[in-house]
Amino acid sequence: MTAEIIDGKAFAADIRARVAEQVAQLKAGHGITPGLAVVLVGEDPASQVYVKSKGRKTVEVGMESFEHRLPEETTEADLLALVAKLNADPAVHGILVQLPLPKHMNSDAVINAIDPAKDVDGFHVSNVGLLGTGQKAMVPCTPLGCLMMLRAQLGDLSGKEAVVIGRSNIVGKPMAHLLLGDSCTVSIAHSRTRDLANVVRRADIVVAAVGRPGMVTGDWIKPGATVIDVGINRIDAGEGKTRLVGDVEFDSASEVAGAITPVPGGVGPMTIACLLANTLTACCRANGLPEPEGLTA
Ligand code: NDP
Repeated sequence: MTAEIIDGKAFAADIRARVAEQVAQLKAGHGITPGLAVVLVGEDPASQVYVKSKGRKTVEVGMESFEHRLPEETTEADLLALVAKLNADPAVHGILVQLPLPKHMNSDAVINAIDPAKDVDGFHVSNVGLLGTGQKAMVPCTPLGCLMMLRAQLGDLSGKEAVVIGRSNIVGKPMAHLLLGDSCTVSIAHSRTRDLANVVRRADIVVAAVGRPGMVTGDWIKPGATVIDVGINRIDAGEGKTRLVGDVEFDSASEVAGAITPVPGGVGPMTIACLLANTLTACCRANGLPEPEGLTA
């Protein structure tokens, strides 16, 4: 079998187009422009690239982008004061504090200071609790993107065996809750899981979020399974060059799977698209308007 490639780039472009259309309608019909505030503390190069890209894509869909770049030595109290200001600002519907924060800050305290209704990353403990209890939450962007791709690929997910490899608060756990919400039978695997290959072999849906290049090989995959590779790993490509690979060994897995996301060009582009979708959702909720269809969990 040769797997169908799930084109995350095209999928993300479609989501951004749908968001842009609904932003235009909000502006024309209600005079409302959704606004996303992104806060970056320090000089982490990867974070700077992400923040720049988020700002550009926010403007491209017609939203307001508010960027706050603070020096590394900013105190937690000053950051909390900025978060409080953004919480109170009616032009700001979504707030994202770029992680990781400098070591002298307590990330949990900062994230939990964000108004849960504006927590477009879905990391606030209230949103975690809402998701965990099957209530309306702001859902973390990467797992939301995975869910959207799975629904588009497979339709009804009900009754499917899903294995999520990784139990982080950012990807693994919320992914498992979302799959459970869609009535999959869900297993969460992690570094202490025994005989991981056999656990993965029973899955109709595999979501790999580990951070280990090519760990999941084709002989772990049930024929016809749908494989979502969240991993982003930079490896040595020789001659002083590097390249990005996922947690799944693409060549062998794509011989067996029914469908698979590539790295790059799979889950990655979906994360920012879902951030914009979440900002639109937050804006609609804040204004008592119907939520955008097909852009939430
Ligand atoms: P974390 O490091 O927070 O979590 C990794 C998880 O993998 C842990 O639960 C860990 O288990 C588990 N794990 C580690 N080694 C093994 C192993 N040998 N067998 C089974 N499980 C193992 O990572 P994240 O969840 O933040 O990210 C995972 C990957 O996804 C990374 O490559 C990251 O770059 C990528 N990512 C991609 C995004 C995107 O936009 N596409 C967004 C976010 C992340 P334990 O808990 O027992 O330690």
